[in-house]
Amino acid sequence: MTAWTEQTLTTWGRSRYARTATAAPAGEAALHDAVTERAESGLVAYGGGRCYGDAALGDGGRTILTSSLNQILSFDRDTREVVCEAGVDFTALLERFVPDGFCFPVSAATASVTVGGAVANDIHSKNHHAVGSFGDHVTWIDLMLASGEVVRASRDRNTEIFRATLGGIGLTGVILRVGFRLMPIPSGAADVRYRRMRDVDEMIDTIEGARGGTAYLFAWVDAMARGGALGRGILELGDHATSDSGAVPPPPVRPIRFVPPSFLLRPSLLRWYTNRRFNSLPPGGRDVRMGLAPFFFPLDSMPGFNRVYGPRGFYSIHTGFPRQSQRAGIRAVMEAVTTANAGSFAAVMKPMRGPGDGYLSFPMEGMAYAVDLPRRRGIEELHAVVERIVLDHGGRLYVAKDALMTADAFARMFPRLERFRKVLAEVDPDRRFQSDMSRRLAIHG
Ligand SMILES: Cc1cc2nc3c(=O)[nH]c(=O)nc-3n(C[C@H](O)[C@H](O)[C@H](O)COP(=O)(O)OP(=O)(O)OC[C@H]3O[C@@H](n4cnc5c(N)ncnc54)[C@H](O)[C@@H]3O)c2cc1C
Repeated sequence: MTAWTEQTLTTWGRSRYARTATAAPAGEAALHDAVTERAESGLVAYGGGRCYGDAALGDGGRTILTSSLNQILSFDRDTREVVCEAGVDFTALLERFVPDGFCFPVSAATASVTVGGAVANDIHSKNHHAVGSFGDHVTWIDLMLASGEVVRASRDRNTEIFRATLGGIGLTGVILRVGFRLMPIPSGAADVRYRRMRDVDEMIDTIEGARGGTAYLFAWVDAMARGGALGRGILELGDHATSDSGAVPPPPVRPIRFVPPSFLLRPSLLRWYTNRRFNSLPPGGRDVRMGLAPFFFPLDSMPGFNRVYGPRGFYSIHTGFPRQSQRAGIRAVMEAVTTANAGSFAAVMKPMRGPGDGYLSFPMEGMAYAVDLPRRRGIEELHAVVERIVLDHGGRLYVAKDALMTADAFARMFPRLERFRKVLAEVDPDRRFQSDMSRRLAIHG
């Protein structure tokens, strides 16, 4: 019998909560018990809890915490394939493999994400234009289905299950083990060039011009800038360094313990912050060599950074647009956000190459633009405006960040949804795996 503990869980956005019975099974047998014990309520897996909305939450149901599935099982230097349990996080991967000359090919901007979470959202990084998403490097997955059976799925075995599980937000079953390929690296450092971009056009043109020759492309965008400065920001162009020598020390760790009251997040203060950040870069830019940890995971030097958005949490609107409409779509989103006077510390832009194998994966050939917004009056309405802009431009929203999308918009943004549903009907006919997100977006149909 599994020992379930009542707990309230939330995710990075701190806007959604679930009261749920949790268990952290260690190993396959314990996981089998937790998955197969009869219960009326739904079941969902919870990794690092770094999605922003309700993808990992199941209010009133049962939640399997993957924190005890935390073993790196093997590494083959010749094939570069690592095998690990799904609860292993990117801190463990970094510490184990970077000193040995290998690195994960794709990560999120925080190392607290687990490998299971990386698969279940098929995450994309600032090198998507060059290497694709995490799922593109996965060789196979061991998945525990609702029946308790463990199936191995890959590109040539149980292919439909494989494609539904990449980006499948945990609805096909619990990912138990993952095989994926690391990439060799010349050092533990990156050479990074920071350049000021005066507006959205210069930003997009420069990113487009650099797609072919730069490994990592990522922009911080001043979401408070308007008019002729709309979309100005700082573009980061990064490549692996040939050596560690000369790397600047990592920034000191400064935990954010204080939750500021909502009134402090007024637009004038946010504008002061974004102006200061933009102007802190000299007009000619800056070139820096830095360790891979601060390069990949800049926010991890401020644990609890999500608290800065105040007691009600925040929403992230993470959009993706196809190349032919990316300029018009991103500009329209920026204008909607500034017109609503919504206010944000952080907006980011990064290029994407074509879609991967996952039926619900986010990336498409084009550009991603995301903006984090403190949760306050008017933001839900702004989200509805942005959702319409995204639909009108043939784009989509990223479920890893989402808490507000409508079921209708979701169905229109993800054309492979019917193929996904067909797999769900086969592997989980009783719909045991459910989340607050799957119900909100009517993913089962
Ligand atoms: C600061 C920050 C920066 C980020 N940057 C990026 C980025 O650059 N690119 C990007 O793509 N994403 C980014 N993200 C989002 C994040 O990568 C994804 O939400 C990721 O899925 C979170 O992984 P997790 O282990 O925390 O999973 P959770 O948040 O716990 O869960 C996310 C989903 O995965 C499912 N899941 C987790 N483990 C399993 C398992 N073992 N089996 C089945 N399903 C499972 C859950 O049910 C849920 O649907 C960022 C998040 C944060 C907080």
